Amino acid sequence: MLTDSPPRKNRAGFLESERIKTLELPQTDELLETAKRLESALRADKIRDVRSACTEFLTAASGFYKIRNSGVRVLAARPLRTREQATFELFGDYAPDSMVIRVWMRTAVRKEVTSVGTFLSTLCHEFCHHLDFTHFGFGDSWHTCGFYQRAAALYHHARGTPLKRLVWVPMSNGRWRIDWVRTNRNTP
Ligand SMILES: [Zn+2]
Repeated sequence: MLTDSPPRKNRAGFLESERIKTLELPQTDELLETAKRLESALRADKIRDVRSACTEFLTAASGFYKIRNSGVRVLAARPLRTREQATFELFGDYAPDSMVIRVWMRTAVRKEVTSVGTFLSTLCHEFCHHLDFTHFGFGDSWHTCGFYQRAAALYHHARGTPLKRLVWVPMSNGRWRIDWVRTNRNTP
């Protein structure tokens, strides 16, 4: 995973997004339970059940943050045109104007059903874009170190797995990439 370069416009929003590395999380198991239903639906390859689990998940999450619900579209396969530019964003996208998250169930190349880990982390990632606009009010949404840390917090909460502190390595143009070896060595 790679962060975006700092933008020319709205530097303040970018720096805020970079700075906020924690996310308030529900005290209940609601997201965990919904994520389990999502996992069964994915394993059974039932798109209607995947859709309803995604809707439940996002409704519960939006309710917790007291923001407008995002729309969600679960697609069988990756559309030809995707809205996010980044190449690592292979499984979903988010449109700020319509506040619609799209996620797709199958990988583009091998047409296999996406693993539950990848699918749920995509859903959390796209929801964090929604949070950036509606909850944090950054005015935009970037892939900053803070963004990835917040998305990881939501994902691990939903999976009931321990959150690790992400370790970053500087790249050119003010970008960062995750050092997975050192991140995975981190105990929560
Ligand atoms: Zn993204």
